[in-house]
Amino acid sequence: MIFLAFEQQIQAKAEMTMDTKTTGGCMCGSVRYETKGEPFAINHCHCESCRKHNGAAVVTLAGYRVDQVQFNGNERKRYESSPGAFRAFCDNCGTPLTWEGDGGDLGQIIEFHISTFDDPERMVPTSHAFEPERLSWFDVADDLPRYEGFSELSPLLHHGPSSRPSPE
Ligand SMILES: [Zn+2]
Ligand SMILES: [Zn+2]
Repeated sequence: MIFLAFEQQIQAKAEMTMDTKTTGGCMCGSVRYETKGEPFAINHCHCESCRKHNGAAVVTLAGYRVDQVQFNGNERKRYESSPGAFRAFCDNCGTPLTWEGDGGDLGQIIEFHISTFDDPERMVPTSHAFEPERLSWFDVADDLPRYEGFSELSPLLHHGPSSRPSPE
């Protein structure tokens, strides 16, 4: 089973590199977007703000530089959830779409909730962000790195579920 999952991840990566265009949009279809190339990261985010904006225990986001993204159709509505950081949604159907803001060395970035991609199966997560804000009753048995804050920009806490004893 583990081997199969690994094979699927490799395949998903290969497909993403070959076919550089990915499409998505909101539930009603009035806001549409297209991304070019691979995301720089795909994170499970456990922060409280993502929970509020999405009404979910955890949210998974795929991040891109702004120059990799093109929006089509109706304009997305943006809400400034903290200074300089925006969360966008469709003002017709209410689907939460993005987190947008400063990505450090990457410049301005747009992270899409992977649930809004037409084929979220291809979006294989790479890490957990804001692990300390995770709801205690929600944990998953993957071996991905878990970070204190914005993934690679913050301290690495551990790999795998917190319930698993760390190797000696
Ligand atoms: Zn919509
Ligand atoms: Zn978050």
